[in-house]
Amino acid sequence: ATPTSIMVGTGKGAENGILIKGAEHLENAHRLTTIVLDKTGTITKGEPEVTDIVPFAGLAEAELLRLAVRAEKNSEHPLAQAIVKYGQKQGVSLNDPESFTAIPGYGVEVTIEGKRVLVGTRKLMLKNNIEFESAVTQIEQLELQGKTVMLFALENKLSGLFAVADTVKEHSAQAVAELKKMGIEVWMITGDNTRTAQAIAQTVGITSVMAEVLPEHKAEKVEALKKEGKVVAMVGDGINDAPALATADVGFAIGTGTDVAIEAADITLMRGDLTGIVAAIRLSKATMRNIK
Ligand code: ADP
Ligand code: MG
Repeated sequence: ATPTSIMVGTGKGAENGILIKGAEHLENAHRLTTIVLDKTGTITKGEPEVTDIVPFAGLAEAELLRLAVRAEKNSEHPLAQAIVKYGQKQGVSLNDPESFTAIPGYGVEVTIEGKRVLVGTRKLMLKNNIEFESAVTQIEQLELQGKTVMLFALENKLSGLFAVADTVKEHSAQAVAELKKMGIEVWMITGDNTRTAQAIAQTVGITSVMAEVLPEHKAEKVEALKKEGKVVAMVGDGINDAPALATADVGFAIGTGTDVAIEAADITLMRGDLTGIVAAIRLSKATMRNIK
């Protein structure tokens, strides 16, 4: 590769909000066969909003909200922030819980006024032997709408549900369509449940979905695709995505994402718009043509 053509390519990228860390990344991008897109914050805006609150077992909605806000107050997860933000709008006060444990990929476990509170996935409830069978139909209905449902347990009893919805970014579907047209295989990867993931995937034209992937397993999924002989890009925004971004042949970070993701990535899409991936691949192809 001639240094001049690489410099021109890198410069053109920068003009378009595509920051390329090194020459080799620009060279690798034209060989990509497979792109793995994180869901939350990458395909979607990553600004989930509470859409449904369902109290059970005689618990008043206001009390459910008060406890959930306290439980989630110290969590950095976007889903937790959605609950806190919703509570603040309703005038719920923000007190710390007595104890707080984040369980990555599952939810949170806290103590409030001496009581044990769990907020998170079905797997979190399963791990704690909390019965949720009676709520399954309701949970599935919400998930089919592309909403993420968090289960709330008070003193080991399922006592409520919170559903949140996140909006798909304006250009996500267009980017997926263009990548497919280039002959590139497109995957979605997420820690979220299968039904919600499928619903979001469908709205952007993705048919290959890896859901309920624990944070520490995202990199393994990328590695497995590489072992199949594929040249793989990972695109993500979160701390969770950093190992997968580093493992991929080309890691793309969303510029509005976390610093950890940006540091682990090879290319940063400053505008957060997935059509930047298409532009980067075209730039890579054009650069390689000039070299040959
Ligand atoms: P993602 O960022 O792709 O949603 P995570 O691995 O961070 O994936 O989380 C997976 C799932 O765990 C979430 O969809 C949510 O249901 C649950 N979860 C994680 N953190 C929390 C939290 N602080 N409160 C409630 N649920 C949570
Ligand atoms: Mg994300």
